[in-house]
Amino acid sequence: MKELEHPAVYTFGGDSTDGNAQLRELLGGKGANLAEMARIGLPVPPGFTLTTEVCVYGMTHGGRLPEQFESEVARGVAFVEEVTGTRFGDTSRPLLLSVRSGARDSMPGMMDTVLNIGLNDQTVAALAEETGDERFAWDCYRRFVQMYANVVVGVGHEVLESLLTAAKRERGLRSDVELTAADWRQLVADFRRAVRRETGAEVPEDPHQQLLNAIRAVFRSWNGARAIAYRKIHRIPDDWGTAANVMAMVYGNRGDDCGTGVVFTRNPATGEPGAYGEFLQNAQGEDVVAGIRTPGPLSEATRTAGNEAPSLELQMPEIHSQLTETLQRLERHYRDVQDVEFTIERGKLWILQTRSGKRTGAAAVRIALDLFDEGVIETDAEALGLVDAENHLTQLLHVSIDPEAERPAPLVTGLAASPGAAAGQVTFTADEAERLANDGYDVILVRRETVADDVHGMHAAKAILTATGGLTSHAAVVARSMGVPCVAGAGAIEIEADQRSFEVTGRRIEAGDWITVDGTAGAAYLGRLPMVSPRVGGRFARFMEIADRHRRLGVRANADTPEEAQRARELGAEGIGLCRTEHMFFATDERLAAMRMLILAETVDERQHALERLLPFQRDDFSGILRAMDSLPVTIRLLDPPLHEFLPTRDDEIAELAADLGKTPEAVTRRITAMHEQNPMLGFRGCRLGIATPEIYRMQARAILEAALGLRREGLTPRPEIMVPLVALPEELATIRDDVEAVAAEILGSDDGLDYHIGTMIELPRAALAASEIAKHADFFSFGTNDLTQTTLGLSRDDAARFLPKYLERGLLRHDPFVSIDESGVGELVAMACERGRKTQPGIHLGICGEHGGDPQSVAFCHRIGLDYVSCSAFRVPGARLAAARAALREVL
Ligand code: PEP
Ligand code: MG
Repeated sequence: MKELEHPAVYTFGGDSTDGNAQLRELLGGKGANLAEMARIGLPVPPGFTLTTEVCVYGMTHGGRLPEQFESEVARGVAFVEEVTGTRFGDTSRPLLLSVRSGARDSMPGMMDTVLNIGLNDQTVAALAEETGDERFAWDCYRRFVQMYANVVVGVGHEVLESLLTAAKRERGLRSDVELTAADWRQLVADFRRAVRRETGAEVPEDPHQQLLNAIRAVFRSWNGARAIAYRKIHRIPDDWGTAANVMAMVYGNRGDDCGTGVVFTRNPATGEPGAYGEFLQNAQGEDVVAGIRTPGPLSEATRTAGNEAPSLELQMPEIHSQLTETLQRLERHYRDVQDVEFTIERGKLWILQTRSGKRTGAAAVRIALDLFDEGVIETDAEALGLVDAENHLTQLLHVSIDPEAERPAPLVTGLAASPGAAAGQVTFTADEAERLANDGYDVILVRRETVADDVHGMHAAKAILTATGGLTSHAAVVARSMGVPCVAGAGAIEIEADQRSFEVTGRRIEAGDWITVDGTAGAAYLGRLPMVSPRVGGRFARFMEIADRHRRLGVRANADTPEEAQRARELGAEGIGLCRTEHMFFATDERLAAMRMLILAETVDERQHALERLLPFQRDDFSGILRAMDSLPVTIRLLDPPLHEFLPTRDDEIAELAADLGKTPEAVTRRITAMHEQNPMLGFRGCRLGIATPEIYRMQARAILEAALGLRREGLTPRPEIMVPLVALPEELATIRDDVEAVAAEILGSDDGLDYHIGTMIELPRAALAASEIAKHADFFSFGTNDLTQTTLGLSRDDAARFLPKYLERGLLRHDPFVSIDESGVGELVAMACERGRKTQPGIHLGICGEHGGDPQSVAFCHRIGLDYVSCSAFRVPGARLAAARAALREVL
């Protein structure tokens, strides 16, 4: 029986390359791009990729790899031997190999790597002989043993590191560079002994055994804790598996005509054109990423103040121009910004990796427009495709420190690694950051340097501050992709060993102290500085115009106050899709008191009195919102939540309320107790309030219509839409509609110019089923997919968090149905209700106002089923506009 659908191994380099960039799923991003680069003639060290299919096979067969695994690896090795003219395990010119992971979507630093495979006591001598550098050879060997120990047999980093530290101490040395060949030789022996002691396993001498074990370990690292955590955050499916890339080693640490670096084809923080990267002379790639030494710039023009490290341009001008040309070629070929790793070995440039560069929201918009203007990309669809609706656009709208406010001198400065600003309380470990954030604290994660294991804490933190590391360090890359503000390489901070405080220029900052981190400027301040919402500039407007040209779906905002409405309008909202009126009753003590009086009223008179107190508040609110949204539709929902949500629970509050109302506390308590419901979400709420106590909705309808009329007298064009929540029966809507129309007849009199509508939410399955009947009484439907999700799945939106993560972990659900619409369940109901509604009333207006309205995947769904608009929180409006345009363009393609 054939165990795999495709060959297990795809070779690249030399004159024959099997794969290409299209094979990401099979070869992973790194493998597919290595193949592509080899294909277009770029200098890629030869190698081969073991497919994700092999990894998945192992995962589904209890770790056993397919039968052809070993022979296919042997075939790959033979290929590399032929291209390089060397032999694996040869005792005069040994071939050395690396194994690196590479998933379909890049997961930077989350999985494992083993370098210098093929070194043993014989080949190390050959390497020393061949390079004429015994120290280099033994240094390579010990790096191999260290990585093998850690990755393949699971010996903790610190075990071998402590041996290295002890060796330096014994010899009175401070840095690794001072250790001699003999020292490294001794350490290799010590390391091997330590591995034996810790695990009972040996580091094999046989190169083939080393290689096979390293590949197995890299496959296993797909299911390492940090990879799993990263996938959860980035919604990467667990069943994809990783590929393993085996490649001939090239060395950047063989002298001053060697080096290594990481470079973006454009600035990933701002989008500014021009290569943007770092270069370390005489070093290996891991040294740049780990942020151990401070790298120099690529060119003198891009040197930042204070950086004195040598630039590539001055050290190796020819390589610099060859690299510049290669970067332009890669960008044109991939039609996107690339993040490239390179190594220079003895004056020859090698490209080790290229991938789409992670970038900030501001950079994404600028890059999309610039590439379009430069002709690198040619269509609107391509330009729109380079900006992520959720991450980039929301990040673009991040807060910053108020420029008007007085700014104290920074506590410390560092690299502006990820933009945005945030204040929070200092914490020093990722676990603590996660725990405190879950308890509702705003935390700033302060670390010497972040490592991949910290990813959950980085996600939980409001901002990150690190002492070491450059702009391409792990902290910087991960923070940018998460949109978390980050200042990296703030060298002046010294974190105490007990991780409870740090010191900076003689000041001690304790865990729990407040600091503000400005990732846009690269500085941190003591205390909490005032923040402002971002202002969006001309590029953003131009980009959004492109999106607007293509979308069919309207985009409205959910907003409850005039200020929110104004902000939503600035962000491109074409109206309000949901104004939750109950929020207004909580706004001041006076309003809440009037509301409580209404709820506890025992006579018609008392109730009327309370309603008269509430009316002016509501009218003012509606007037403000309708004014902010002049000429645009504003959907105002009549009161929805269970009334007891407005009532006090504490004894002192009850006593105060009783005094206000001239009742005894016992009487008030009795009323409150009587109103208790076992399951208020399914209880006395929504239109049931309007049926049982019609005066409330009548008052609200009056407030809306009077506000509208007032604005019309000022010459404005208010367009209110009155929306009835939680309808299950057509009769409910019909009854309330009659009520509202009676109020309208009274208020509007002969003014029939007001453009107002009455409609309903569809947020119960029965309403969706009865849509054709309900449509007889509705000018519009607005799908309340929050309630529709909870009632369709029988899943409480307040309590689901307890067990929903298990469903996601175990793959029973692909995504949280409260975040992305459950297309085959809830989505089916929505689609069906649209169809039934339109059949009865062809002109009925259809929209969605649940949280899904701002989720790009759900927006695409709404487009497909033909809704008229989506409505979402103001800051998600631009993302929804982009998602709607992308959905429309996909349809055309
Ligand atoms: C909904 O149920 O989807 C909705 C928008 O209303 P709320 O979230 O206020 O219940
Ligand atoms: Mg609802």
